[in-house]
Amino acid sequence: MAESTVEIRELDPFQMAQRQFDMAAEHLHLDEGLRKWLRSINRELTVQFPVIMDDGRLEIFTGYRVQHNLARGPAKGGIRYHPQVTLEEVRALAMWMTWKCAVVNIPYGGAKGGVKCNPKEMSEKELERLTRRYTTEISILIGPDSDIPAPDVYTDARVMGWIMDTYSMHKGYSVPGVVTGKPLSIGGSLGRNEATGRGCMYTVCQAAQHLGIPLEGATVSVQGFGNAGATAARLLAELGCRVIAVSDSQGGIYNKNGLDMKALLQCKQEQGTVIAFPEGDKVSSTDVLEIPCDILIPAALEAQITAENAPRIKTRILAEAANGPTTPEADEILADQGVLIIPDILANAGGVVVSYLEWVQNLQEFFWREERIREQLQQIMEESFQHVLHVATEEKVGMRMAASIVAIRRVVQATLDRGVYP
Ligand code: NAD
Repeated sequence: MAESTVEIRELDPFQMAQRQFDMAAEHLHLDEGLRKWLRSINRELTVQFPVIMDDGRLEIFTGYRVQHNLARGPAKGGIRYHPQVTLEEVRALAMWMTWKCAVVNIPYGGAKGGVKCNPKEMSEKELERLTRRYTTEISILIGPDSDIPAPDVYTDARVMGWIMDTYSMHKGYSVPGVVTGKPLSIGGSLGRNEATGRGCMYTVCQAAQHLGIPLEGATVSVQGFGNAGATAARLLAELGCRVIAVSDSQGGIYNKNGLDMKALLQCKQEQGTVIAFPEGDKVSSTDVLEIPCDILIPAALEAQITAENAPRIKTRILAEAANGPTTPEADEILADQGVLIIPDILANAGGVVVSYLEWVQNLQEFFWREERIREQLQQIMEESFQHVLHVATEEKVGMRMAASIVAIRRVVQATLDRGVYP
């Protein structure tokens, strides 16, 4: 095993993203100058802003909007509301967005935003005031031609609606294309809400087919039962998989015979957590990663699979619905164990693919039927998976490295074709 797996040191998410980039850049023998440019952040904005809370207090929040690279088009990336948001995390997520858009070949650069806050402890009105003020603060960067936000952890269609409205109020007319993942009534797209989980499901189907694993009866474990994780679990269950374990921020639930997805989704919706589900044993959120299964889907936060727990992970396919769930050290351990990794920039790209389709519909002011969206999503995800698999085979590298190679090559080509200004 390589030295780096022994040296268990904590990397912050941006260092982790840069480490992954460096490894791919080395493999590509990338020019030193390009290497320095692509591992740097192009633009970043930090904002401190006040929000009047319901009890009349003034609270000050910190938010970020980071654009990693704009070579292939306008910046694209979600907005996260979470108590642990840091600039390093947002930088990493922005860099991964650049590679993600490139790996599925949609014409965007990479960005991300975040506000350090705890939405679970805030009222709807407080969240709305926070969103409107944050939108105004970052309005010097966002716009339908420049930088288009979308949902991420603890933000949803409702938050995107407030962003669209705030931006539009400043302009004096409606600008639906400034944000994706909006409610349908104001220019959202059919199929966007489930797109990340659906896209993940398509890549899992491709991986299972490649390995000769029948989906009927295949066991699935999912960490994080939100937009991405719950949808992937539901769709895989519909294909005959047995979802044996799921977790959320409060803990997990395990049933070796399979969890009833419909009842579990209802429980999560009504009680707010999967641990209230009666038909299973309670386990911790980290235990869920270590339950032997055919398909493991981390769908919560970064750095969940580390050198510490990777040796105990027993799965055949790791489909990274979350961004950055696996550290580089853990990656090597899983590769040694023969796990097929569908890397985050591929496995969870369905969200940005349908965001792209939503933005195109907004610009055209013409809306498509859901079948058309599903068909395009499926085609893009399957072709991207096959392309990455082909590169992995040709270049004798793992899927993560292959996805990075595909993405970096496209960004490098765009950079060279544009030239360096001035
Ligand atoms: P979400 O807010 O809908 O769900 C997050 C889920 O994770 C919740 O169920 C929450 O309880 C759970 N969670 C939080 N902390 C946890 C912990 N420590 N252990 C276990 N579960 C925990 O968010 P989402 O949009 O589904 O995002 C999840 C992941 O998917 C993130 O990494 C995000 O960046 C990624 N992602 C989301 C999209 C999208 O379109 N929503 C697209 C691409 C990638």
